[in-house]
Amino acid sequence: MARVGFVGLGNMGGPMAVNLVKAGHDVAGFDIVSSNLDEFVTSGGKGAASASQAAAGAEVIITMLPAGQHVRDVYTGADGLIATAADGALLIDCSTIDVETARAVAAAAGKAGLAMLDAPVSGGVVGAQAGTLTFMVGGSDDGFARAQPILDNMGKNIIHAGAAGNGQAAKICNNMILGISMIGVSEAFVLAEKLGLDHQKLFDISSTASGQCWSLTTYCPVPGPVPTSPANKDYQPGFSTDMMLKDLRLAQEAANSAGATTPLGAQAASIYGLFADTGAGNVDFSGIIRYLRGQSGD
Ligand code: NAD
Repeated sequence: MARVGFVGLGNMGGPMAVNLVKAGHDVAGFDIVSSNLDEFVTSGGKGAASASQAAAGAEVIITMLPAGQHVRDVYTGADGLIATAADGALLIDCSTIDVETARAVAAAAGKAGLAMLDAPVSGGVVGAQAGTLTFMVGGSDDGFARAQPILDNMGKNIIHAGAAGNGQAAKICNNMILGISMIGVSEAFVLAEKLGLDHQKLFDISSTASGQCWSLTTYCPVPGPVPTSPANKDYQPGFSTDMMLKDLRLAQEAANSAGATTPLGAQAASIYGLFADTGAGNVDFSGIIRYLRGQSGD
């Protein structure tokens, strides 16, 4: 079992760290919000007074932070994790951040002789609690091989996407597909309503025809056809509009700096942004159908 330092014990990081404790690892955690730290300690983890204290002597250091700037702050700088990690420690950042920052921080770790992986996740809070997350991992083959037994305690699909930053690239490309396809499916249901075509009939036909996709068959944005979809629970998330917007904006940043043409990705970011502005940031992203019908988020 490994000695693990875990920084960022929020909605995702908290249950992920607890799963490592349950698997028998020696986990010291830190969060700037003391109630998150207290909850982790109550669940059997060890509390640390700072990120570098959590990481002291750890073989594996994991971070789960809100955005790129937090990741830069925690890893780089005089008392950052790169400067204070033990020799040979493996660094794993599971936050969803921009590709550029992921590559820059991994390069800084490499200069200090430390292996670093970007390993963003999908599966949400439910997946974090159940230990069924998907990890999309960027970094060296050796780093991936060392990380796999640890990530196995928090997820069920662990995929090596290539070199540093490719985990983040995979995450934003996938979520750009998802954001666009959810708008497409929602537009089709709104048009069907206007044309007098029953929701269930459209579902029965399109789910076995060429319109078939995950947004339709697993996460259907109208209540009824897929009983487990958030549409049946008044669009409680699930995956919030704010989270989708964050990922679509990261995809647009990456597309701009890489020179990729993504007009539908740009349009999707703009549409979710307008929906969020109606007060729908905490509504599930499939609630976008309300915006298309001219309804607000609440
Ligand atoms: P969160 O805000 O609940 O957790 C982030 C935690 O980091 C907070 O507890 C915060 O106090 C802590 N933190 C911030 N700066 C810190 C610092 N300097 N030192 C120590 N702790 C610090 O967010 P979350 O929902 O857990 O998401 C974390 C990451 O995972 C984000 O990048 C998010 O995009 C991604 N993600 C979230 C979900 C989801 O459904 N919530 C799904 C997939 C990916």
